[in-house]
Amino acid sequence: MQASVLAVGAGVLPRESEGAVGFQKFRIWDAHCHLGGQGASAAQRAGELLSVARRMGVEKVLIAMGRTPHLADPTPSQLVEKNNDMTAALNAFPKETLGLVYVSPKHVAASVAEIDRCLKHPRVVGLKLWIADKCSVLAIDPIIARAAAHHATIHQHVWDKTGGNNANESTPEDLAALARRHPKTQFIAMHSGGNWERGLRALRTVPNVSAEIAGSEPVAGFVEMAVRELGADRIIWGTDAGGRSFASQLAKVYAARIPDATKQKILCDNFRRQAERALRFKKN
Ligand SMILES: [Zn+2]
Repeated sequence: MQASVLAVGAGVLPRESEGAVGFQKFRIWDAHCHLGGQGASAAQRAGELLSVARRMGVEKVLIAMGRTPHLADPTPSQLVEKNNDMTAALNAFPKETLGLVYVSPKHVAASVAEIDRCLKHPRVVGLKLWIADKCSVLAIDPIIARAAAHHATIHQHVWDKTGGNNANESTPEDLAALARRHPKTQFIAMHSGGNWERGLRALRTVPNVSAEIAGSEPVAGFVEMAVRELGADRIIWGTDAGGRSFASQLAKVYAARIPDATKQKILCDNFRRQAERALRFKKN
């Protein structure tokens, strides 16, 4: 067994010189994390998440939706509660966290108020939309406009389930329709639709949507197809931790047959560019 593998087991990160896939070779920001785990408070759960992220060489994690269990159709007061969890996690670990404000197209006025409240936080950089309603509904437009006014990116869950989606669960096609209505706003298609061969095709002609690759099996060919169809600048890495492991999600990129410079864009630079746009706007 190579020394580098033993070193990882002992909790010591291998150096770049030890091998082609040393953890320290790339700068890594995780654009998709949750507050699962055992801790009672949001800060404790963020600590558990980061204790693993650090071991895997991850520099920053993007947190959304508050402590599990996640609420599919939250009320306005539940949105506030979940977003308070998110900001508590950010406040506990200022150097290693960024956050998304959780909103719902079912509660437009409350969501707009949450956008204004939470984007005042120095490290909240975007919106998270899940499955309360389809993202293509016209009712969502004031939420998107408010996010755009803050230069915030919209992270939208999209899935294309073989057995059929949940009633209000968005597909990549739904997000493509929304993004075409808002061509100057940046969107992120979380999971690339899960069924990525179909999802990437739905997204490739919509330049203001990036494909995020978190939360599915590390199947060979996923990242290569994303690079081929969308280009190296529109792919964003994340884990969906703790729903998925860091190792399985890193494997998608480490094992992909693409140049190291492209891996670096996917593992950090593409998301960092969007996050920094929102952070710069706060300073102005
Ligand atoms: Zn998730």
